[in-house]
Amino acid sequence: AEPLLSVRDLVKTFAGRRGRTGRPGAPVRAVDGVSFDLGAGETLGLVGESGCGKSTTGRMIVRLLDPTSGTVTFDGTEIGGLSQARLRPHRRHLQMVFQDPYSSLNPRQTVARIISEPLLVQGAGAEEARQRAGELMELVGLIPEHLDRYPHEFSGGQAQRIGIARSLATSPKLVIADEPVSALDVSVQAQVVNLMEQLQQELGLAYVFIAHDLSVVKRVCDRVAVMYLGRIVEIGDKAQVYGNPAHPYTRALLSAVPLPDPAAERARERIVLLGDPPSPADPPAGCGFHPRCPKAQQRCRTERPLLEVVGTGGRQAACHFPEVQGVS
Ligand code: SF4
Ligand code: MG
Repeated sequence: AEPLLSVRDLVKTFAGRRGRTGRPGAPVRAVDGVSFDLGAGETLGLVGESGCGKSTTGRMIVRLLDPTSGTVTFDGTEIGGLSQARLRPHRRHLQMVFQDPYSSLNPRQTVARIISEPLLVQGAGAEEARQRAGELMELVGLIPEHLDRYPHEFSGGQAQRIGIARSLATSPKLVIADEPVSALDVSVQAQVVNLMEQLQQELGLAYVFIAHDLSVVKRVCDRVAVMYLGRIVEIGDKAQVYGNPAHPYTRALLSAVPLPDPAAERARERIVLLGDPPSPADPPAGCGFHPRCPKAQQRCRTERPLLEVVGTGGRQAACHFPEVQGVS
């Protein structure tokens, strides 16, 4: 079957900052050639440190940002280059949940109004939209009688449930969730992830679930893509990427995830990354990860590795010296 979402060679460049000379700097490639497919009802975890381009990728898919180049094919239509007017009928099936629920909900609007907004944009009547908003409140575990309250009257976890309800108002096929739990208390993060998983099963949604931490998406994702400096450096089925990561950066991210079993926690390899992630304004030559990579060799400093299939099972990694089970 054709994938629900197909992203090809997506690029976003921003104008470089002006230096002290007043001349503009070189353009910054925040997203530098991202490609992936997502099937209906599937979840792709999109993971990486802040500044790696994962949010920018999500925003281009829903067209909150226009791609510099590349294509976004959603449900059989290339939407990456459509005008906002031509995009509107597709946006119904393509929604977004944001990181900070408070700043993404208008503080001067009631919850009824906030949740109804996407329906009103699509031409629903006021009465119908309000009734649907009440149903959506219930669907996300909130009390429909609280429809006339304002966002500040809700806790962070409840406010994010409102953001999720809004994203579901038009019965989307795909929700891009940009770090939907990272602004929430740890104690409510699991509840919101569980809710999203349950909604996915009930409604047959597909998610692109963006996170900076591999542990957050481990339960919900079917596949995972790891980004570094605007590129996907590893992508594959969850079992492969978590069980036998091929890229040194994935290995390092996974080694930072605490294991529940204390013996396993003491025994396991821990990789400490040197330095900070480099700035996309000044990317290293060769492999972008080489200044921090424990396995870097001479070739890595000059030759950029491309995403290639590693081992069996279709997983891909962009590394000259990937780890493969039994071989390294
Ligand atoms: Fe490390 Fe070289 Fe692989 Fe880059 S290509 S991740 S520097 S081993
Ligand atoms: Mg972000």
